[in-house]
Amino acid sequence: MAAPGVAGLACPNCGAAITIHALQQTQTVVCPSCHAVLDSRDQQLRVLQQYQAQMRFAPEIALGTRGMLRGDAYEVSGFQVRTVRQDQTEYYWRVYTLWNPYKGYRHLMEYDGHWCDFTVSRIAPSELVSGRQPYVTFDGTTFQHFRTTTVTTEFILGEFPWEIRSGDRFTMREFVAPPRMLAEEVTPAATVWTLGHYVEPGMIAHAFKLTDRPQAPKGIAPCQPNPYPARRNRRLRLAIAAAIPIVLALLLRRVWELYSEGMASPWPYVALLAACAAPPFFADRDATRFERGRWSASDYAPDED
Ligand SMILES: [Zn+2]
Repeated sequence: MAAPGVAGLACPNCGAAITIHALQQTQTVVCPSCHAVLDSRDQQLRVLQQYQAQMRFAPEIALGTRGMLRGDAYEVSGFQVRTVRQDQTEYYWRVYTLWNPYKGYRHLMEYDGHWCDFTVSRIAPSELVSGRQPYVTFDGTTFQHFRTTTVTTEFILGEFPWEIRSGDRFTMREFVAPPRMLAEEVTPAATVWTLGHYVEPGMIAHAFKLTDRPQAPKGIAPCQPNPYPARRNRRLRLAIAAAIPIVLALLLRRVWELYSEGMASPWPYVALLAACAAPPFFADRDATRFERGRWSASDYAPDED
């Protein structure tokens, strides 16, 4: 799939062999041996950064792994660990840069076992403010502002189509319209919008033939689709179908009552109707809880009860 890598290069920091797979596109390459960050546009692979942070991280999908995603073959070419600090806590997530020589780049983000597949959008969405929460419209869909954070690039491996160093910081604004989300990354050099789609973890394991079972997702991801409204609507249709004969029986019973005495109590019918109403009611409650859970991680956390 990929063009043959350019070999015969050596890390100026430690002497290890460096292979660049996407020579035309790559701007930054990380030495696999000493993790020095190198400028791949420079013949001598000028050192951009000799040492990265103390902590080292291993990607769950190894660099060089190939997989089919959305019908195309991609190779994992870069790996980043990013952090954001909120309320004295550091949150870590991982971004895999995927490359196909004909399709370009995708960025797979993983946080707490949730996966989202991003591509760079050439069109910036139009932004509108109404009330407290800004929103953007893109492709006919309204995306609501989720949060604004300062992101730090903590650790990098592999090759990247832009200049990157560990310790880089940028401002990120996220907007959601599950199962999609838009992320705006603002650095002094550029503003980049990416469009992401929520991906079921099983799909990632299947696409990249991961032998280790993927981590079960924890919590609720910003763009994770809410499964409960569909369940509520299904249950509501069933409830209505079940309630119709019960209501008819109640009406017939009322007519019969005009001619005879001592009918049985109507309460069993009412109890049956309540039993019909309960499943959609609980699914509706779960749908509301899911949204509360989603927005509790945003800048618009719902007030505690
Ligand atoms: Zn090196």
